[in-house]
Amino acid sequence: MLNQTTSAALFDRAKALIPGGVNSPVRAFRSVGGGPVFMQSAEGAWLTDVDGNRYVDFINSWGPMILGHAPAVVLDAVREALPHSLSFGAPTRREVEMAELIREMVPGVEKVRLVNSGTEACMSAIRVARGYTGRSKIIKFEGCYHGHGDAFLIAAGSGALTMGEPDSAGVTEGVALDTLTAPYNDLVAVEALIAANPNQVAALILEPVVGNMGLVPPAQGFLQSLRELCTQHGIVLIFDEVMTGFRLARGGAQELFGIKADLVTLGKIIGGGLPVGAYGGREDIMNWVAPAGKVYQAGTLSGNPLATAAGVAQLRYLHENPSIYEQLNTTTTRLADGTRQIAAELGLHYTVNQVGSMFSLFFTSEPVTNLDDAKKSDTAAFARYFHAMLERGIYLAPSQYETLFVSTAITDELVDKYLTACRESLIEAHNL
Ligand code: PMP
Repeated sequence: MLNQTTSAALFDRAKALIPGGVNSPVRAFRSVGGGPVFMQSAEGAWLTDVDGNRYVDFINSWGPMILGHAPAVVLDAVREALPHSLSFGAPTRREVEMAELIREMVPGVEKVRLVNSGTEACMSAIRVARGYTGRSKIIKFEGCYHGHGDAFLIAAGSGALTMGEPDSAGVTEGVALDTLTAPYNDLVAVEALIAANPNQVAALILEPVVGNMGLVPPAQGFLQSLRELCTQHGIVLIFDEVMTGFRLARGGAQELFGIKADLVTLGKIIGGGLPVGAYGGREDIMNWVAPAGKVYQAGTLSGNPLATAAGVAQLRYLHENPSIYEQLNTTTTRLADGTRQIAAELGLHYTVNQVGSMFSLFFTSEPVTNLDDAKKSDTAAFARYFHAMLERGIYLAPSQYETLFVSTAITDELVDKYLTACRESLIEAHNL
């Protein structure tokens, strides 16, 4: 048994102060039971908790640490920026450099605005789409998560799903009425929503590869068909690439699938671990954003000097080292194929979905193409598996409905370590 005495004591203190003891719901380990692990430090692939236990990290802060923890290239940039003050609330050179890098790397981005989180990016993108089209409604997919903006907490994925509350209390009926939802990968349902709401849909927002109900790829042709539908009906197509941007390829899912959205939202990874988000896309739409246009959106700390120092350093590194994507794909394919094979050898024909450096093991033998499929998973078995993996020093997302994120710090040796733990943990979880 791991000694987690200090984590447990901190969690007790936290629970008296912070709702549920955490500052973001999934961290509470609600769906897997037990208390969360409080982290102390991390380097490369390894996390160290406050009790001195070490784990190989397959979450990587839910995506941003694509180069592993504390990479010198990012830390040096932050160190260099540090003495020059932490915020100006005025424009800086690095914001321009960061915007240039994003425009160069992400297809279709002609103009971009920096914000502080993925939530802000998605909320703002929707507002711009509404301002631009003069329409009110949006379409989103069940199980997709776009942050905690009111409009998105309808059939939401990630933490909302983990907590069993895909529709949040506190969201007004009026807001809910403007959010239309369809099952992921269901083109007919989208067509029906558009037909039933003629000239009323401002935007269709989706994760082009979903990470927030576990990893679910788009069906062949799905993204292309959505692109065509949106063009045909004057709907702003928004790819939420907060997870997939700069991860599935330098230009994200747009590059991987060869499809251009009208707007794209970014987050996490573009700050290298510091709080940043961004939204950008077609110039004629982005020119609606204040002060150029009539859609208001602002931020005291937006374009923060430390966050942009980290972001520029990480993005530049990705730009200059495209071979890391091959490396990540190879590593992740070994992990995903190995997991599938081990499960099958144990008589568990579980579904493993993988796209690039994201993958999920679903505790169901049926294909997972949407939220209803994902919900067929045996979450009790997943919880046992999660704890067995943790005992063996493997840190996974504490919910069936999340993806794993692989970093460049995962070596072949660590893949072997993961696969050995995976076999033992599946046996333990199922009493085989
Ligand atoms: N969109 C997606 C696809 C996400 O995965 C997330 C966060 N997991 C968000 C938006 C919200 O980002 P943040 O947590 O930075 O607000």
